[in-house]
Amino acid sequence: MSSPRAHFLVLTFPFQGHIAPALRLAKRLLAAAPDALVTFSTSEVAHRRMFPANKPDGADEVPDDEHGGRLEFLPFSDGTEAGYVRNSDPGVFNAYMSSFHAEGARTVAEILDALAARGHPVTRVVYTLLLPWAADIARDRGVPSALYWIQPVAVFAIYHHYFHGHAGVVDEHRHDPSFVVELPGLAPQTIGDLPSFLTESTDPSDFFHSLFVTFRDLMETLDKESPKATVLVNTCQELELGALAAVGAAHDVIPVGPVFPSSDVSGIFKQDDESEYMEWLDAKPEGSVVYVSFGSISRMAREQLDELILGLEGSGRPYLCVIRKDIKAALAGAEANEMPQHERVKNGMVVEWCDQVRVLSHAAVGCFVTHCGWNSVQESVASGVPMLCVPRMSDQRMNAQLVVREWRVGVRAQIDESGVLRAAELRRCIDEVMDRSEAAAEVRQMAGKWKRIVADATEKGGSSDRNLMAFVDDGAR
Ligand code: UDP
Ligand code: UDP
Repeated sequence: MSSPRAHFLVLTFPFQGHIAPALRLAKRLLAAAPDALVTFSTSEVAHRRMFPANKPDGADEVPDDEHGGRLEFLPFSDGTEAGYVRNSDPGVFNAYMSSFHAEGARTVAEILDALAARGHPVTRVVYTLLLPWAADIARDRGVPSALYWIQPVAVFAIYHHYFHGHAGVVDEHRHDPSFVVELPGLAPQTIGDLPSFLTESTDPSDFFHSLFVTFRDLMETLDKESPKATVLVNTCQELELGALAAVGAAHDVIPVGPVFPSSDVSGIFKQDDESEYMEWLDAKPEGSVVYVSFGSISRMAREQLDELILGLEGSGRPYLCVIRKDIKAALAGAEANEMPQHERVKNGMVVEWCDQVRVLSHAAVGCFVTHCGWNSVQESVASGVPMLCVPRMSDQRMNAQLVVREWRVGVRAQIDESGVLRAAELRRCIDEVMDRSEAAAEVRQMAGKWKRIVADATEKGGSSDRNLMAFVDDGAR
């Protein structure tokens, strides 16, 4: 071999919302650089979920194996047997994060050394946002790295500014959700809409304190890169021009997304029979169905589930609603009752998991009731489906702002003081998006417009495609 081939090591935190865009990016890298090697690495527990050990041909579980030979999967350890288990004790979560850091850093270093010893040295480390230590390990070995930021650039800019001189104003008004903060280059935001890990997790005894620390470490490690850190973002420049300008001077921020569409990963954790709900959708008129999903990690109280079903039934429209197995199990455990609200489901279909990308691109779907995880938002924008936003934590409220204020492709539901989205509010919002009013028509028209913009950006020769090609060329040197 004359010179080493480009070899990307893609590292990700073991959440579905992180694995999915990371795996999509890994495949995009391969498509862009047919000679490259890509090694994909997440925690052992998540890896086993992706490739069930009881299936000898587990590797074939990940579709799109035309690239099979060059996309390799090599897990690192997070120091646990079971992986992160949701638990209401903040100490448990924070302990997991420190074990993830210590063991992850140790085993990722081993992986880098082993790949080099095998004659396939990694030429670029690409890591998602909860592994800032990966950049330090790469730097120690002289390997360039790139952060893969899987939330909006606007949220990246907020973290950046907070940890670069603007913490004071946020901290001072932390307990006043309606206080408006102005950060350089960004639209004014209320404290309540800022990423929750900044405003709610500064105390070491807080549930997500370790995430606050992780973001602080991330901003610090980016500052160590010279001359500038490379930050790939899962968005396209057209969606976030203003925010890109707000951080462009500090870092080399490169929009390469939305990495989409993909039947390639949404099937990994699939639990329901796909044909059943797809056939159900096939039988529904165009634009008539309300699709409901709150992502892969959110929780739901019994009261919320009841209000949700009540509101959906009351809307008089057909609906496809995802209630994950673990949510059902938690509710059944608490109530010693096997989902009795199912009896009330008349006009809709409830599944435990679906191929969301396929569902959103089905013509029957006319509205997406979403928690506004960034993947869900992007999938919806790329499919031209108007959103009904029910954001709760992390970056979700900022994402909802983009949906409603910047792109005008959805509405935001009000949650009451006890944190519940009431049936009446849900029905009001569904009507707002789906009825025959002028306002609803405008939202649908904007959704169609953004769908085309995103398609243009990601197609061959589009802005995100060109950015990715340039990044790949760079990684080969
Ligand atoms: N998803 C899916 N089927 C479901 C629910 C979710 O495929 O029934 C996928 C969805 O397409 C998205 C991811 O899970 O890619 C959720 O990521 P997001 O950022 O929206 O939310 P998170 O789960 O991180 O809160
Ligand atoms: N939380 C949230 N959305 C989620 C998961 C958690 O807002 O999808 C918040 C939740 O409101 C609580 C904290 O995070 O304040 C702790 O989460 P968890 O649900 O694990 O704790 P529990 O509800 O069991 O106390």
